Amino acid sequence: MGAVIIDGVAIAKAVRAEWKERADRLKTQGILPGLAVIIVGDNPASKLYIRNKIKACREVGLHSEIHEFPRDTSQEMVLKRISELNVNPDIHGILVQLPLPPHIDSAKVQETISSEKDVDGFHLYNLGALVAGGTVFPPCTPYGVQCLLEHMDIPIEGQNAVVVGRSNIVGKPMALMLLQKGATVSVCTSKTRNLAQYTLLADILVVAVGKPRLITGAMVKEGATVIDVGINRLPDGKLVGDVDFEEAKRRAAYITPVPGGVGPMTITMLVANTVQAAERVAEKA
Ligand code: NAD
Repeated sequence: MGAVIIDGVAIAKAVRAEWKERADRLKTQGILPGLAVIIVGDNPASKLYIRNKIKACREVGLHSEIHEFPRDTSQEMVLKRISELNVNPDIHGILVQLPLPPHIDSAKVQETISSEKDVDGFHLYNLGALVAGGTVFPPCTPYGVQCLLEHMDIPIEGQNAVVVGRSNIVGKPMALMLLQKGATVSVCTSKTRNLAQYTLLADILVVAVGKPRLITGAMVKEGATVIDVGINRLPDGKLVGDVDFEEAKRRAAYITPVPGGVGPMTITMLVANTVQAAERVAEKA
């Protein structure tokens, strides 16, 4: 029997509707959740991501604004704008689109964003909170994966989870979140010897590498849940994940497609984090 295909588009729509209700409630208290997005340079992929993020915010009725800088903008200018946004009461979330040009220190930029407005969840304080078992602003992509699992009623506690990839924005926070939910977690990297030995143990397999069809069907445990975070453009223009979808869906119980799986959830969780940031402001007031 084939796997159930996890419909990220439909789940994202349902989750956004929930966050819209929360945003509407804030509006009745006179608070309009606001997101500021900073982009430096004109990387077409970054511009597309930003357009989609702004569109999602508008759909939910949030305020959103783009701060565009030319590629040769100094680091000082970018940090200055972040400092202004940190104290702007109309802005509850600040996001700096990565990658930044090489003359700008991404870590320094992330650290300058107020941890209370760090809706991407990349600030060291928020990453630390994740290590300590808290969830101030969970990074959007792993948060989206967790939300997909919860929506599909896929148990996490007691399961063997394998995360392939250890980036700071996906793999590492994903592993911590699964650990926090009671899974037994293994993290595999490019240095892992015999990757299949690990993936075959996975009740939940999350793959975030950026290599088309790295995970073949033979590497998937029968009945597993396979979450494919990867986004790769093939020479013929086709978009694929890191998992051989056609093969893996014959063995898995649940699987996400690419596109239409994790991607829509990442943007949805950005909306969620922005609304939560505004809710915290409302609570303090
Ligand atoms: P990254 O390049 O920062 O990290 C890739 C990781 O994969 C590294 O930790 C590396 O050790 C590991 N790796 C490389 N080769 C490997 C191999 N052969 N076996 C096992 N591990 C290997 O990438 P990232 O930023 O985490 O992104 C990963 C993928 O996810 C990319 O395709 C990216 O486009 C995609 N992505 C998707 C979303 C989304 O919303 N769907 C969000 C973020 C990233």
